[in-house]
Amino acid sequence: MITKSIKATIMGSIILFASCKEEPKTKDKLMTNNVLLQEWEGPYQGVPAFDKMNVADVKEAVEKGMDLQLKEIDAIANNTEAPSFENTIVAMESAGKALNRVFAYYGILSSNKSTPEFRKVQAELAPKLSEFRSKISQNEKLFQRIKAVYEASQKKPLEPQEQRVVNLTYKQFEMNGANLDVEKKKRYAEINKELSTLYTKFSNNVLHDEENYVTYLTKDQLGGLSDGFIKSAAKIASDKGQDGKYAITNTRSSMDPFLTYSTNRELRKQVWANYYSRGDNGDEYDNNKIIAEILKLRKERVSLLGYENYAQWRLQNRMAKNPENAMDLMLKVWPASTARVKEEVADMQVVANELGDNITIEPWDYRYYAEKVRKKKYDLDSDEVKQYLQLNKLTEAMFFVAGEIFNYKFTPIKEGSVPVFHEDVKVWEVTNKDSGKHIGLWYLDPYAREGKRSGAWATTYRSSTTFEGQTNVLASNNSNFVKPAPSEAVLVSWDDATTFFHEFGHALHFFAADVKYPTLQGGVRDYTEFQSQLLERWLSTDKVINTYLVHYKTGESIPAELVEKIKKASTFNQGFGTTEYLASALIDMKLHLADPSNIDIDKFERETLDELGMPKELPMRHRTPHFGHVFSGEGYATAYYGYMWADVLTSDASEAFKEAPSGFYDKNVADKLVKYLFAPRNAMDPAEAYRKFRGRDAKIEALMRDRGFPVPK
Ligand SMILES: [Zn+2]
Repeated sequence: MITKSIKATIMGSIILFASCKEEPKTKDKLMTNNVLLQEWEGPYQGVPAFDKMNVADVKEAVEKGMDLQLKEIDAIANNTEAPSFENTIVAMESAGKALNRVFAYYGILSSNKSTPEFRKVQAELAPKLSEFRSKISQNEKLFQRIKAVYEASQKKPLEPQEQRVVNLTYKQFEMNGANLDVEKKKRYAEINKELSTLYTKFSNNVLHDEENYVTYLTKDQLGGLSDGFIKSAAKIASDKGQDGKYAITNTRSSMDPFLTYSTNRELRKQVWANYYSRGDNGDEYDNNKIIAEILKLRKERVSLLGYENYAQWRLQNRMAKNPENAMDLMLKVWPASTARVKEEVADMQVVANELGDNITIEPWDYRYYAEKVRKKKYDLDSDEVKQYLQLNKLTEAMFFVAGEIFNYKFTPIKEGSVPVFHEDVKVWEVTNKDSGKHIGLWYLDPYAREGKRSGAWATTYRSSTTFEGQTNVLASNNSNFVKPAPSEAVLVSWDDATTFFHEFGHALHFFAADVKYPTLQGGVRDYTEFQSQLLERWLSTDKVINTYLVHYKTGESIPAELVEKIKKASTFNQGFGTTEYLASALIDMKLHLADPSNIDIDKFERETLDELGMPKELPMRHRTPHFGHVFSGEGYATAYYGYMWADVLTSDASEAFKEAPSGFYDKNVADKLVKYLFAPRNAMDPAEAYRKFRGRDAKIEALMRDRGFPVPK
């Protein structure tokens, strides 16, 4: 996952806000001692004063930052000179520096060091930030200037990067209704307001059903469960006032291991039913009517703009370009994926019969028997693998890969020379291996702690742009490894090692950027995970395996048979994984292509899955009534296909390396990779960039091979 610089998250769809070089005059204009607003001082073009940040300063800093930016925007909008690229687009790119600085701290306080005190400030600021966004996106004078620059550029095109930033900026405003007449604009705003209420209701209903359908177990119902799981279930129960019992909460992190290991089939069925009925219980928290309403309003909103359906509007600036392309990909993979489910079910039925369980595989049995098949077929001991995966060796391995592919050198900086927000955070300087040219700083915050969000992510405090002089990159990776006792090695699982490489891929994508304007840093939803997914592939290259995946005690390289087992196991249960994902992605798209006027959501889901031939032994990964990606906001509406879209690129690009004379370390392919797929970010159309790298469009065959599916003829 990537926190596309915290600005993008907080600013929603407006892409005017990325960090850039400071202009010397800003300090005078600030008239404040608020640390969070101050220009960054010290070495490396200035670095955030993480050692001085304070929650008490946040509210004032954000408010003042918004104020400053609105003044800058007003000045651009009210400029009496004729609109030009320089006085409108460049001026907008240059605006908002103080607020960007605040968000570097804001991101840390919300993700790495959160407190109840901060969350209170956050809640208070949320509506103000939303209002701030609207003030810019609905600034009529500003839009008229952008439009004038855009229209002039259609007659007399600008340089490619200039033209791209004009196109993206214009499109962003246009897609959000800036071109509508007064009457339609009013309706557009009303619809958005109604939608935001419905999104909140939808989320709250799911949350209600997650919190209120807890399954409490007694001591004799714990068969198959691990000690760790039992301990945590006991703690959750006692926190909920049920001392002596064990709580299975209605969330994925509880449901998934329970269904995998519990030997009690009746309880598996109950936990399964609770989980997949969230938002679908026919009571006041039922989401079916809300979803129908959301679909109607979305359709009405895009009709105002002249689009046939929501998907068409949403996908126009994505790599897929239109819903047909996205559907086409999904339907090509679907038959192989569901055919694999049949094989998996047959394998599981054999195991069940061998065990004398006398059952037919049902959805609440899938995970349980799949685990038994996994043990039987692959015999992979994850504890054994872990002994070869040490955090510091993995870090060295990533630096090695960055050196080979990107020509980077990572050097630890002198402790204390750059402020950090926690003693565990370490900082490296990134330079060009040959020229020694400074590129940026890499911050690593590896360990879990209270107040830190779960999972792993990458972010930037400053991005590389050149329009006001070359800026360096301040990028970070964040993980939740368990902190070891001093001098002990941190051993991680294969999955966590893969994620560690993944997030480093995001960081390299930041460091490699060669773009002029902040807007061109932006991510394209079905493309932005591709670079990071691709970097995962270097973890299992021979050079990394032989040198860095060494036993934490003996220093011996991981045995070849063990690597072989890991690779073989990677296609295990792909029928389940791919089918549950695709079912959700297909329903997401089909719901938005359908006529919503009299839609019955429950019926639509059932009938569409029937038509598709959904295997009855598993449900959608996210059933419609709790599909938060799509209905708790618009982030992944008609975009859930994007994970697979990016994965097609990942598989296809990795075959470009496999086919090359020097494999994953082939200089020629690596150069093209950096030049076309990393450096341009959004300065080049992703499809065009990919063609330059590969000499053709990506094909799905590689993805099919990676998942162990037969390749279509
Ligand atoms: Zn990611």
